[in-house]
Amino acid sequence: DVFSGQKTTVFETMSIMAAERPGGCCNLGQGFPDNELEGPEGMKQAATAAMLPPNSNQYPPMMGLPELRQAVAAHSGRHAGLPVDWQRETLVTVGATEALAAAFLALLNAGDEVIFFEPLYDSYVPMARRAGAVPRIVQLHPPSWSIDAAELEAAFSPRTRLLVLNTPHNPTGKVFNQQELELLAALCQHHDCLCLLDEVYEHLVFPGGAPHVSLRSLPGMADRCLRIGSAGKTFSFTAWKVGWLTGPADMVAAVAKAHQFITFTVPSAMQVSQPGRGACQQRAVAHGLEHEQSFYSGLGPLLQRKRQLLAGQLQQLGFSVLPADGTYFLVADFGGLLPAGSTEDDVAFCQRLVRDAGVALIPASAFYADKATAPRTLVRFVFCKTDEKLQAAVDALRSYL
Ligand code: PMP
Ligand code: GLN
Repeated sequence: DVFSGQKTTVFETMSIMAAERPGGCCNLGQGFPDNELEGPEGMKQAATAAMLPPNSNQYPPMMGLPELRQAVAAHSGRHAGLPVDWQRETLVTVGATEALAAAFLALLNAGDEVIFFEPLYDSYVPMARRAGAVPRIVQLHPPSWSIDAAELEAAFSPRTRLLVLNTPHNPTGKVFNQQELELLAALCQHHDCLCLLDEVYEHLVFPGGAPHVSLRSLPGMADRCLRIGSAGKTFSFTAWKVGWLTGPADMVAAVAKAHQFITFTVPSAMQVSQPGRGACQQRAVAHGLEHEQSFYSGLGPLLQRKRQLLAGQLQQLGFSVLPADGTYFLVADFGGLLPAGSTEDDVAFCQRLVRDAGVALIPASAFYADKATAPRTLVRFVFCKTDEKLQAAVDALRSYL
């Protein structure tokens, strides 16, 4: 059982500790946005109204509702410059999480090697291993989370089947730049490997920073890349669990084979296009992608302001804040806050803060497959929260530290 060594995911564990703390807790751990950042009211109404009409509570099509697949295809053309055929090149999944799992199960055979960048999202390595694959992990080097080209090249072998790229990146907020993408494109073509692109934070990029560019849009890459998106991130509806995948027809068809046996389809109350048309969240997401572009285009500037608010105060408290160009995650080094000679690591620090300061964070080592190689003094803050909540967290830290 490859999962026997797995603990409950750190996001769940920290949220439970935060919820159960007597006296309350500021939860800047698990990445979920506050109400003020949630998607348009009309989308919620469309989703809520969905279940009431007669005959609206039965299986939607396995690949997703046509309306949502059409909206996903149009969105891909509009924002990534990658037009796709909605009937052959789109698939709706239960969040990005299912898209990732289905892709690993569909694309990997026992012994295949998969390249990941570390820090990495916690589901990647266990799911790739469960599919029989062997992870080859390449470090992103703090503080700028740069790639060492020689280390990357050395990770490729004749067994390399897949490279997984998450940009904008959780937990660092790094947005891979053109030069890095070109290096990846050259290596993937040279070694003839496929790419799984986790682009759930594609709209969460800051004005003035590196723009988000999909690896799929580089020359020679369209036929080997699958892109993953999520309504959880694009509309700040993490509970809806609507995700999607676009890419070459043969790769999408392969992943659909896995999807049909994992979940088969996606709750229809989550997928429609116009409020009041009798269907559901899938349709609500379709409506949002088509008609609520100003919502998700506004997230970058809004989040940048919140990041600055948090970063400035954390620096005053003695944290060293690492740079980022996107997402709603901030990584900071707390090493300067420890007394000389202290060997407290990030996990112990986060446990102490949640218990004694009432502030929940995520230890950065949770994003490392091998904890022994993880940095010891980095923590992740989430800042997709009201200014009041961010201030309350900073105040709690200030009076405790
Ligand atoms: N990939 C990354 C990088 C994430 O941070 C997350 C989590 N939120 C997911 C995938 C999963 O997304 P979803 O909630 O749509 O399943
Ligand atoms: N992606 C979210 C984060 O990084 C959490 C998702 C989850 O709780 N599984 O915080």
